[in-house]
Amino acid sequence: MHGKDIPLDVVREIVSRVQHTRVVDYSPRDGVTCPVCGGRLRWGKMGVTHSLPWSGRVRERYHRCTLCGAQFKSVEEG
Ligand SMILES: [Zn+2]
Repeated sequence: MHGKDIPLDVVREIVSRVQHTRVVDYSPRDGVTCPVCGGRLRWGKMGVTHSLPWSGRVRERYHRCTLCGAQFKSVEEG
């Protein structure tokens, strides 16, 4: 046994989390489109769970779709 080896199931978990972080564009006018169910989420129904402050010209938001419950991230470019 090598003490530094990462268990395979841990590697799988990390990979699956990365793959499940979907990113969509955020529009101040049109809102966001859920990457899972394709639903158009507008103001007040975007399911924003967390908003990050502006970082340069980019702002990220975390969402939970109000239609299907999928979690994803949006990026707004100012
Ligand atoms: Zn959805």
